[in-house]
Amino acid sequence: MSHLDPSLAQLGATDWQQRAERLHYRVDNLIDGQRCPAVSGATFEVLNPATGRAHTQAPRSSADDVDLAVKAARRAFRSGSWSRLAPRERMAVLYRFADLIEAHTEQLALLDTLDVGKPISDMLNVDVPGAVLSFRFFAETIDKLEGAVTSTTPEALHYILRQPLGVVGLIVPWNYPLLMAAWKLAPALAMGNAVVLKPAEQSPSSAVLLAELFVQAGGPPGIFNVVQGLGAEAGAALALHMDVDKIGFTGSVEIGKLMLVYAGQSNMKRVTTECGGKSPQIILEDVADFDRAVTYAINGIYANQGEVCNAGSRILVQESIYERFVERFAELAPSLYVPGNPLDPATRMGSLVSFEQQQRVLGYVEQARSEGGRLVFGGDVPAALAQGAYVNPALYADITPSMTLAREEVFGPVAAAIKVRDLDQALAIANDSIYGLAASVWTRDIDRALTFARDVEAGIVWVNCFDHGDMTQPWGGFKQSGNGRDRCLEALTQYSQTKSVWVHLGG
Ligand code: NAD
Repeated sequence: MSHLDPSLAQLGATDWQQRAERLHYRVDNLIDGQRCPAVSGATFEVLNPATGRAHTQAPRSSADDVDLAVKAARRAFRSGSWSRLAPRERMAVLYRFADLIEAHTEQLALLDTLDVGKPISDMLNVDVPGAVLSFRFFAETIDKLEGAVTSTTPEALHYILRQPLGVVGLIVPWNYPLLMAAWKLAPALAMGNAVVLKPAEQSPSSAVLLAELFVQAGGPPGIFNVVQGLGAEAGAALALHMDVDKIGFTGSVEIGKLMLVYAGQSNMKRVTTECGGKSPQIILEDVADFDRAVTYAINGIYANQGEVCNAGSRILVQESIYERFVERFAELAPSLYVPGNPLDPATRMGSLVSFEQQQRVLGYVEQARSEGGRLVFGGDVPAALAQGAYVNPALYADITPSMTLAREEVFGPVAAAIKVRDLDQALAIANDSIYGLAASVWTRDIDRALTFARDVEAGIVWVNCFDHGDMTQPWGGFKQSGNGRDRCLEALTQYSQTKSVWVHLGG
């Protein structure tokens, strides 16, 4: 794990503010190793949601720009400059790339914070080190993957090669712009593919610097391209392109489903999706450390403003400890997550990504009230921060499984506490969802914990913790939370294909 540069750890809010003002950057496309505007010259404004002011502009790319990027990627892929590089040389480039990302922590952290309003401290402690680790992890795997020789007839030698797919399109969301891109780029590049990355329109800034660093690290031009733009324009053009072999998608269920449609409408490209969630955190009466469980539940829903795919947004508590849990949560949470200036390193909760997202979240707060939920605290706009897209963290108690707040992904800091009789009922409620990304259970009873882990319909299960893990952990969902797995070795196979070679022996 990388450690934060001590000189960055010492900076205060004023230092970060000054650095943000001094930061010189332009948001471009990057095609064939060169920065460029959209062919049409069109741009769109990028909002800093913490100030409510546009802080930069980005190219509004069309199908023409996507086509240029895909052609550059195909040329670079076919040239073999990356796909046929000796594995340890490819590994060396990715290690240098990881080092360069680490050396540019300050810029990358600022760019994502300015784009999406997330706390600079999260960027320094979670997003940038996580991205670095992702490239190092997949670099390490490059010469560890093996093909196979199968046991077959003596008249033949049959071997199986694992090869890259070719040109991979990556479409990523805004909640962890750098990190979500890194989780997909690292295995795709490690396998030898050429990539076209389409960042979310809310968070275009860090991607172009990232792609430049890849070239600086010795990555061949054309292997890592970036096309900025709106989802329905640049994103759709990439997913519909006839010469893209795969789309790796992270985002909402609605758009994830569209990716599958686009694949069917074009060239039957492979699609992996990482979509939303409504993750249950289940706290049973025999929990070993009550306060620890409460604190994890708080972090599980409010970290990253609740804009987290695996946010533990349904908190299912056994009835004997339910009222005590709600009270303790309400005592602790409001002082742990006070919305504030994202550039202040003391801030743990920044602004939401946009005013649309703010309105969406406030809409869910209102709907929960009208459906009979009990608002314990929060859910309003902090008066002193009215210039930005802020929402105070909220806890709703007495939510029932049929209420909207128990069923839909809010993607904001709104917790729903649900009272349950026992583990069986908790499991039934947990599984009554279109989602199946993550789940947790808190209990001292090993039998209950393992039964839950076996029966819960989720790709990631935590026992007596929440959100723990590392690069070895497959990250992905069951059901409509998606079909892909990020991190882990399995991610590599999703950016590769097997080839069977049958050699006839003996004339
Ligand atoms: P989104 O689906 O609106 O957008 C995701 C990406 O798709 C963006 O780049 C966007 O420009 C693009 N896009 C939008 N419409 C498109 C279209 N018609 N064609 C092609 N591309 C299009 O999601 P979002 O609001 O950016 O992100 C939030 C969602 O992401 C949440 O649902 C969250 O749960 C999910 N998410 C999942 C994971 C995971 O690992 N499972 C991780 C992070 C976020």
